[in-house]
Amino acid sequence: MLDCLVIGGGPAGLTAGLYLARFQRKFLVVDAGAPRAAAIPKTHNMPAFPDGVTGPDLLRLQREALLRYGPKSLVRGQVEALTRCEDGFAAKIAGADQFETRAKRVLLATGAQDVELGLPDQKDAVRRGLVRYCPICDGFEAKDKKIGVIGFGARGLNEALFIARTYGADVSLLTLGRPLDLTQGEQERCHRWGVKIFRAPVRSLRVEGDRVAAINFGAFGEVVFDALYSALGLEPRAELAKTLGAAHDHCGAVKVDARQQTSVRGLYAAGGVVEGLDQVVVAMGQAATAATHIHNHCEEGIDEV
Ligand SMILES: Cc1cc2nc3c(=O)[nH]c(=O)nc-3n(C[C@H](O)[C@H](O)[C@H](O)COP(=O)(O)OP(=O)(O)OC[C@H]3O[C@@H](n4cnc5c(N)ncnc54)[C@H](O)[C@@H]3O)c2cc1C
Repeated sequence: MLDCLVIGGGPAGLTAGLYLARFQRKFLVVDAGAPRAAAIPKTHNMPAFPDGVTGPDLLRLQREALLRYGPKSLVRGQVEALTRCEDGFAAKIAGADQFETRAKRVLLATGAQDVELGLPDQKDAVRRGLVRYCPICDGFEAKDKKIGVIGFGARGLNEALFIARTYGADVSLLTLGRPLDLTQGEQERCHRWGVKIFRAPVRSLRVEGDRVAAINFGAFGEVVFDALYSALGLEPRAELAKTLGAAHDHCGAVKVDARQQTSVRGLYAAGGVVEGLDQVVVAMGQAATAATHIHNHCEEGIDEV
């Protein structure tokens, strides 16, 4: 019987593992091996890395830190099923070794996945930082550049306005062929910040060298941008929480309280799977909060938490 099963080994899960190791808890981090953090070309908003750090390097450093406390605390595998049992939770794990385990507490750190553009060349463009997902992460590097935002509805519009007003960029919103009806106020804000709107469907993507992404779309032919942001949103990997009946918001993100507890007793969640700002430092902070609460309450019966 583990004190805690941590599901997911991205920035959140690995932080929780480090805290639990240092609390001398009996725990396991199970990771399916597809962290969103691995796609970060180089982040510059991680405190303590003044020259930036790539996602893979950050994850490697986190794994190294955790494994110093015990090489068996992190395993590769997919938690396929999670159910309640009398004194906690039971999990079925698939991977090189198929096994089952029980834990008094579970921390879900399963992250989220991006809604993909589905355009050719997209992966290469993401790797080069030409297609990006989050201006809070790297909008600073878009300062005064020519930026395209792919998105629709309020999300796309707000992201375009955020980049234009924060970074003074020349911003175009590409609505993927969907209509976009703007209120008078929205029209005024677009005008004020110089946001242009293209409603034609995007057909393809072309990468030119290291700096310029280009798009072919409809009658506009080709328009060249320094970078494109996808504002299509995220899908939280929250299936395990939902199966247990945990409350979630309209986007599917798990709802938590200030201690990262979900609405299911004994089940915690941190990082991209929960509602709120999807950032590495936030994921780490939430995981630290959850791990500390788990440590302080682990001996209590699950319904006393
Ligand atoms: C291109 C890009 C650039 C970004 N740049 C930045 C940046 O500059 N700064 C910043 O702060 N953030 C950035 N982000 C966001 C950042 O990646 C996320 O905030 C962060 O990865 C969230 O960490 P996490 O641990 O919650 O999730 P993840 O990193 O997604 O890790 C979750 C892990 O859980 C595993 N998992 C899922 N389900 C299961 C299961 N059932 N069983 C076992 N394991 C499972 C997954 O395989 C994965 O390994 C960027 C994201 C992208 C895509």
